[in-house]
Amino acid sequence: MNAKTGTRGRWSKLLAAFVALLLLAALGLYQLMNARTFQVAGELVNRVATDEKVVALTFDDGPDEHTPEILDLLAEQGVRATFFVIGSKVEAQPQAARALVARGHQLANHTYTHRRMVFVSAATVADEVQRTDAAIRRAGQRGEILFRPPTGKKLLALPLYLADHHRRTVMWDVEPDSGTTPTPAEIVTTVREKTEPGSIILLHPWYATGRNTRAALRGLISGLREEGYRFVTVSELLALRSR
Ligand SMILES: [Zn+2]
Repeated sequence: MNAKTGTRGRWSKLLAAFVALLLLAALGLYQLMNARTFQVAGELVNRVATDEKVVALTFDDGPDEHTPEILDLLAEQGVRATFFVIGSKVEAQPQAARALVARGHQLANHTYTHRRMVFVSAATVADEVQRTDAAIRRAGQRGEILFRPPTGKKLLALPLYLADHHRRTVMWDVEPDSGTTPTPAEIVTTVREKTEPGSIILLHPWYATGRNTRAALRGLISGLREEGYRFVTVSELLALRSR
């Protein structure tokens, strides 16, 4: 090997190492952004450690025109749930949001526009969170307003804002209808298989796409009841933890 190819070999090794490092960093960022159980700052929960057979149903997005159907079903089953609502939807459907609060459900913050909250400025984060808080307060929700990032994504600016404002992030440990379109029966089966005492179940019952989730609700609730579970809001679940 002459000196020239030797230099070239070193450079290509360095380049390969650099590319590998970049890929690792990207992979690390991706995992950090999507992590269910970790964020860089602020409190995050994805379930609660308890021996009690309690579970929290959480509904993401909305509200929309399906609110009466969902409310009736939950009333029929005697279940209170936690709704991570989108601020702009709350403003578009103020009666729906007020009805949710009036029936004893908990409203929580899922941003104003449901944008990806990664690589965003601190000002954007503050705007997304505060406008949604204001809409939730106008709907009548009192007490702590919990937060869940759209599609669970968070990186730096969002966790730092949440930590600064003593806000708790709520993720989930059961997700039967995320990113796929299972049948109602499949949703019920996944929930029964994955739920443990203290689980936080993520469901998407809104829009036309939430059809199968709405159809699964009754079976899902009665299935868990048969196994001895009772249903609480996320704040009630979090309160159980400190007992
Ligand atoms: Zn969402």
